[in-house]
Amino acid sequence: MPDSSTPKRAMVIVAHPDDAEFTMAGTAALWAAAGAAVCYVVCTRGDRGSNDPDVTPWALARLRDAEQRAAAAILGVQEVVVLDHPDGTLEPTLALRCDLTREMRRFRPEVVLTGDPTVHFYGGGYLNHPDHRAAASAALDAVFPSAETRYIFPELLAAGLEPHRVQAVYIHGSPEPNTWIDIAPVIETKIRALQAHQSQVGGFPVEAWIRGMAEEEGRPRGLAAAEAYRVIVINGASQG
Ligand SMILES: [Zn+2]
Repeated sequence: MPDSSTPKRAMVIVAHPDDAEFTMAGTAALWAAAGAAVCYVVCTRGDRGSNDPDVTPWALARLRDAEQRAAAAILGVQEVVVLDHPDGTLEPTLALRCDLTREMRRFRPEVVLTGDPTVHFYGGGYLNHPDHRAAASAALDAVFPSAETRYIFPELLAAGLEPHRVQAVYIHGSPEPNTWIDIAPVIETKIRALQAHQSQVGGFPVEAWIRGMAEEEGRPRGLAAAEAYRVIVINGASQG
């Protein structure tokens, strides 16, 4: 099993405000408590995330920004970067890849956590959001080759952002996990962080959801509460 010890710096890349709280926030909280610097990069402002005709996208974006920052504070996540790519119609464009590459070269994470860009559905009851696939796809392409290759996106180099080599990626929601993080010590924190997203989860049984997901993810390893990842360690060999 790949090493799952605490990195010094970790970056979580998701499509929407609240995605991290549903998925990887337990790991973020554990690592932050152990002294890691954790940065969230949210690709969209989540401004299409309401069907209420009285809620404008502009107002929703402001509200969700505040909710995301409140959730991050609960988790001990030190930094939140919200990009302004289109919510609901996100694509893994070169512009998005460049923005994510910029954040990686600036923050210099050892580890990047994101979703699985290959998953279209889970089981018999959940279609994955295309924005989630797009964010994960752009994130992996930014890790390799863009972040570590000097002359890709020369405008970043011109701005003083030197290449940076990420050591491992943690892919959450993979059908083939190989690493399980025990989140029992922080599950209450994860629940509180998701509850900070009241515009999205108000009235829903957040605690039951989170406990149920953590139990399901931990089951293959006999853990009461876990987040399961496919971890890919990028070693020092040339990758062409
Ligand atoms: Zn989402």
